[in-house]
Amino acid sequence: MKRTSVVLAAEFKQKSRWMHVWPQMHYGAMFLPFGVGRRLPLTGCNWVTRDSNRLTNFSTRYATVIADLDSAKNESELNVPLSDVRWGDHRRLFFKCTTCGEPYRRAVSSVMKFHAHCGSCRSRRYPSEVLKGQMTGASLQATKPELAKELAGEKAQTISGFAATSKFNANWTCSCCNKTYRASIRERTGLVAPGMAPVFADSARWTGFCHSCRWEKNLAPAGREALQRLDLLGLEATAKEIAASSGKKIPRRRKALFA
Ligand SMILES: [Zn+2]
Ligand SMILES: [Zn+2]
Repeated sequence: MKRTSVVLAAEFKQKSRWMHVWPQMHYGAMFLPFGVGRRLPLTGCNWVTRDSNRLTNFSTRYATVIADLDSAKNESELNVPLSDVRWGDHRRLFFKCTTCGEPYRRAVSSVMKFHAHCGSCRSRRYPSEVLKGQMTGASLQATKPELAKELAGEKAQTISGFAATSKFNANWTCSCCNKTYRASIRERTGLVAPGMAPVFADSARWTGFCHSCRWEKNLAPAGREALQRLDLLGLEATAKEIAASSGKKIPRRRKALFA
């Protein structure tokens, strides 16, 4: 179809109708102030920073929150100096996680009320979001020191102390092209804490390189084998497993007889 100005205008109008669709709220998001009635009572709160609510006056208690705040960015982008931040501040300020180094934007009030710190490492640094600190294992550094060396970023030292079964999405340097890519720690180690859903059996092999290198690195050997044998069925691993466990006694239930 010829894209005349009329067609383009109609298309724009059709597209722009979708701007009224509310964004998806996932299980963590609470109240979405996207209607007039939802917004109006909140706009009536005119907050003033006093000595009693200034965040820096509570540095003994909230030192970690103050350390996480990206004050330079807040001042330049939002015009909010650190002295103006309240400990229950509703404004969405810029943070930079001191644990994993990820930047995030969040209201100070939700950090204070719910410990809603950095979403990358708050609970995902552990093998399980439910058990968090209760479920810890040997660290990545202790389990796979060769993988810990491939961690990228200035917080690589801290991240290498996370559990080898951790769900944390870390930045890694590809050993093939030296570019940085993201993969979770447990994908790279292939280890999963007991009782958790397992990762893909070959995940350690497939996440060993960046997205552009892993295809070549993992499928080139299989391709060469297929050219030689012409009957590559993908059953080789299963056949090996069966051959290895042939002598083992596996308990089987007695078959019911209905005759
Ligand atoms: Zn973090
Ligand atoms: Zn690569």
